[in-house]
Amino acid sequence: MTDAAELATQRHVPADLPERIQHYIGGVFTDSVDGATFDVLDPVSNETYLRAAAGRRADVDAAVAAARRAFADGPWPRMLPRERSRVLHRIADIVESRDARLAELESFDSGLPITQALGQARRAAENFRFFADLIVAQSDDTYKVPGRQLNYVNRKPIGVAGLITPWNTPFMLESWKLAPAIATGNTVVLKPAEFTPLSASLWAGIFEEAGLPRGVFNLVNGLGEEAGDALVRHPDVPLISFTGESRTGQIIFANAAPYLKGLSMELGGKSPAVVFADADLDAAIDATIFGVFSLNGERCTAGSRILVERAVYDEFVERYAAQAKRVRVGHPHDPATEVGALVHPEHFEKVMSYIELGRTEGRLVAGGGRPEGLAEGNFVAPTVFADVKPEARIFQEEIFGPVVAITPFDTEAEALELANGVRYGLAAYVWTNDLKRAHNFSQAVEAGMVWLNSNNVRDLRTPFGGVKASGLGHEGGYRSIDFYTDQQAVHITLGAVHSPTFGRADGPGH
Ligand code: NAD
Repeated sequence: MTDAAELATQRHVPADLPERIQHYIGGVFTDSVDGATFDVLDPVSNETYLRAAAGRRADVDAAVAAARRAFADGPWPRMLPRERSRVLHRIADIVESRDARLAELESFDSGLPITQALGQARRAAENFRFFADLIVAQSDDTYKVPGRQLNYVNRKPIGVAGLITPWNTPFMLESWKLAPAIATGNTVVLKPAEFTPLSASLWAGIFEEAGLPRGVFNLVNGLGEEAGDALVRHPDVPLISFTGESRTGQIIFANAAPYLKGLSMELGGKSPAVVFADADLDAAIDATIFGVFSLNGERCTAGSRILVERAVYDEFVERYAAQAKRVRVGHPHDPATEVGALVHPEHFEKVMSYIELGRTEGRLVAGGGRPEGLAEGNFVAPTVFADVKPEARIFQEEIFGPVVAITPFDTEAEALELANGVRYGLAAYVWTNDLKRAHNFSQAVEAGMVWLNSNNVRDLRTPFGGVKASGLGHEGGYRSIDFYTDQQAVHITLGAVHSPTFGRADGPGH
């Protein structure tokens, strides 16, 4: 069989794929005002399989107006937390009951391996369940000054939240914003990533079925510079929650500044995994392989720089490279696949250009480009560069693919300097059995999140976010609730009124 024929037989196209995707505004599916569309490709054939409505300012205006109406006049912001919680649990139930179909569509659209897409669909349901529980357990502060004053926090939703999301694990990352935004009584306009609009188009049906009132959820598809930008600059959208590249975050920050919007920014990463010689090497190798090659390496918290203490460096590199070569690259729908196809040919070219650069900046010990037998589609073999110097671009820049840089260190101080020597600060992974060092190093590393002797396993109550170029603000648990609400302070005088009297009738001069 030729490569093309082989590809055609292996390619899995889900049944009942839509041919077009519309916006969803005020409970109605609709095309763009000017009729514009953009093409959506699947990452195995790189052929257009659907056209999505390309929203611009007029479409965003309509969506914001619908969300505004639902906020000002609709029932949602005024419902009891328990009533909203019930709707959120129903959303979680529906997502769970459709996990296989969601995973099938997500895997087809994004190139994620089907088993990992399934895990992400379940995580999306869990996000709704978590915030459904949190809002009924929510309590707010009161402060008492005995006999004089009572102060309490009146927490209230803010209004229309603009949610702008990336193409990696799209459905799950949308849920991470949608769930707390609507749980707290806001209404939303979601602008999903243009590479992967398929799964986002399912939210409307899920929300309708769960009984979410019309206008609470609105969806505008389109390009970032058009639909995303219109949302960022819309005066009736007081909140923007953004996940994406650091560069885009800077642009949004500037464009939102004239409106003084509330901003939450989850941005890029170049996270270190630091392996000390006393670590459990078997566990460290397994975790650091998974940490950068899962989700195709298109993962913000990927441990894409591995720093290894010199005493175990050669052994680590040899064993790591051997295991990386065994990682199964294959068709996204195949349950045996561990690394699927990168999301889009443009992103594939970007990752491949970093691999070419890496050949001049490090020692290639595994991978190095397109895997054998996969001549078409955006497939990249897990690629490992050793002996990478800290000034190398593959050490400094986010590649967002299955590519890792390994660097040796001699002392703990040097490890810390290497770990902190990039502009990013999202996650860090530390492998050591020395208790003091584990804590001291974790506390000193410039990262929003640290995992000690562990992969990225996260309890939903914990803070999520990065420092430096990796983000602004933290979400997760009550922090998400705080971002999507205003905490109005109400002060009540109980005793005598303590006001100095200005302009007294018997004062000086009278
Ligand atoms: P991106 O910044 O290119 O796009 C993200 C979203 O922003 C898309 O919906 C896009 O259309 C929109 N956008 C682009 N330009 C815009 C503009 N001028 N105004 C408004 N919206 C605009 O990011 P991407 O390539 O889709 O995603 C990958 C990036 O996301 C990586 O850097 C990754 O690390 C990061 N990421 C971070 C986290 C985190 O939690 N820290 C999670 C996932 C992904």
